[in-house]
Amino acid sequence: MVSAAAETAIHVIIMETFKLNENFFKIPESYLFSEVAARVAAYKAENPEADIISLGIGDVTRPIAPSVIAAMHEAVEEMSTAEGFHGYGPEQGYMFLREAIALHDYEERGVHVSPDEIFISDGAKSDLANIGDIFSAQCRVAVTDPVYPVYVDTNVMGGRAGRLSSCRWDRIEYLPCTEENAFIPSLPSRCPDLIYLCYPNNPTGTVLSRAELAKWVDYAIENQCVILFDSAYESFISTPGVPHSIYEVPGARKVAIEFRSFSKRAGFTGLRCGYTVVPEELRLPASDGKMHSLRKMWLRRQSTKFNGASYVIQRGAAAVYTRGGLEETSRQTAGYKENAALLLRTCRSAGLEVEGGVDAPYVWVRCPEGYGSWDFFSLLLTRLHIVSTPGCGFGPAGEGYVRLTAFNTPEATREAAARLSALKNC
Ligand SMILES: *Cc1c(COP(=O)(O)O)cnc(C)c1O
Repeated sequence: MVSAAAETAIHVIIMETFKLNENFFKIPESYLFSEVAARVAAYKAENPEADIISLGIGDVTRPIAPSVIAAMHEAVEEMSTAEGFHGYGPEQGYMFLREAIALHDYEERGVHVSPDEIFISDGAKSDLANIGDIFSAQCRVAVTDPVYPVYVDTNVMGGRAGRLSSCRWDRIEYLPCTEENAFIPSLPSRCPDLIYLCYPNNPTGTVLSRAELAKWVDYAIENQCVILFDSAYESFISTPGVPHSIYEVPGARKVAIEFRSFSKRAGFTGLRCGYTVVPEELRLPASDGKMHSLRKMWLRRQSTKFNGASYVIQRGAAAVYTRGGLEETSRQTAGYKENAALLLRTCRSAGLEVEGGVDAPYVWVRCPEGYGSWDFFSLLLTRLHIVSTPGCGFGPAGEGYVRLTAFNTPEATREAAARLSALKNC
């Protein structure tokens, strides 16, 4: 055994001698989706006649709304003329899109966010990953468990995670969300600097009430932490009283950065567009004794490392907020929500314990007694020809669950539901 001090010393020598960011080597190969694909392929090879339905996909499947397509066509045509050509755009995003977001996503919900606080990007994943640039490598991180793996892996790359032991990084605080706490995480005990919250949640499909979210905001204010609030699934919320934005909670502008995406709301997973809100009031002290604006730092980061999302795509995103765009995209979301509701009902009547599925496209299913995530995955695959995602792939607290998604077609989802209702007889 090497002592921790000796290990740190060795680590320093390694970092001084070699040129690569060795944090990358600490991250275990993510085998979740490749293992799922391999098991499905193996089963198909042995059972070529099996009609396999995927409820494992985390990608949308419906085509882009006509209003968005029309706006992008128009933008492409503009680009073909000398007057309408657009070269490098503003790094923070075009004002027409930032104004539409400020108005429709915030002002209309009674929340004030200025266009200057909105940063357009090529998607929420990049922003969630890049936000680490403005924080110290010493920051302590807390995540809910199960968790969207991007939060954890990017902090490993940034050197904030410590060492991996029994599936957990020792400098990251994991806040379990399980049946025992009704999937509502407890406040951290180790006083982190950065807290990642994702609501509606991927993978559990759960939401936080305004009162629950207020506890986090108050905690962050008291303890001077920053909440990184991922609301990629905001458009799936229909339950009254569930906050759509963390800024609906008083004081949140002082402590929270909000990440949003057009991916799940308007099918932009292949087009790529999202945005991040960094409020003016979000300031933290530095070693120079001064308070520093995180908005200013993020602006500097983006204008140095990012040259803006494409003009055509931003025109498409702005069309989401037109009357036609709103109607078309909300119809799509409603379709996915119907799929989720059907899966939820069916699982319940089949005697399974389920979470989510109401304000999110995910249904989080507790495996039957005696089954682990992979056992239940195999049962669903071999008996019902349904592909799920084993919950253990999202963190230690995900063991004993599988995730089903509502992103397949209504027809395939209905067929899957019919098979699930026969589960009792399996
Ligand atoms: C899909 C998803 C996103 C959105 O990612 P994009 O890069 O905008 O496509 C962000 N967070 C979570 C938890 C997601 O599931």
